[in-house]
Amino acid sequence: MLPKLSRGGLLVVGDAAGFVFATGLFLEGMNFAIASALAAAATVQQAHADADFSAKSMARYRKRLEANFVLQDLKHFRHAPTFVNNERLQNVYPELICQTAENVFRSNGTPRRKIGRIFFDTMRGKVPLRTLLRDGWQAGRALFF
Ligand SMILES: Cc1cc2nc3c(=O)[nH]c(=O)nc-3n(C[C@H](O)[C@H](O)[C@H](O)COP(=O)(O)OP(=O)(O)OC[C@H]3O[C@@H](n4cnc5c(N)ncnc54)[C@H](O)[C@@H]3O)c2cc1C
Repeated sequence: MLPKLSRGGLLVVGDAAGFVFATGLFLEGMNFAIASALAAAATVQQAHADADFSAKSMARYRKRLEANFVLQDLKHFRHAPTFVNNERLQNVYPELICQTAENVFRSNGTPRRKIGRIFFDTMRGKVPLRTLLRDGWQAGRALFF
């Protein structure tokens, strides 16, 4: 949720404008800070040439951000924060992956089972299948589709 980005005589850039995101895959903010500062500078330059620092003139800043990657990236990845802040993603799944890997590679004198079977056995009682599918959908929506 972005704050108001401009008003008469004022523009907000970088982190202060909420231009930062951690998607779990990308951690970005410096590029948004630089690009928004450039867009702000161009807006101020034009306002100075027109001698017009009204709210309407400053609102051109948002148009510039919509045209470059800043607002497009933030819109494309708007579902990422919900995905990244998921408690299971931070704690449960890493543990499950480690346990599955241990069970896959351990040789204990019994016949080997296929990896899918080992994964579902390890997962049993920890994450209901419905929850796993919902989290998978959330990850897809946040990063892939
Ligand atoms: C741990 C961590 C890792 C990160 N890793 C990455 C990364 O790998 N890649 C990436 O792109 N981004 C990364 N970021 C995000 C990135 O650092 C920020 O998005 C970026 O620095 C924002 O720039 P900014 O100029 O908007 O704000 P800032 O860099 O925070 O600059 C604001 C400045 O204003 C000063 N200030 C605050 N209040 C006042 C005041 N009242 N008077 C005067 N000065 C004031 C502050 O001291 C600060 O120097 C990371 C951030 C963190 C915290």
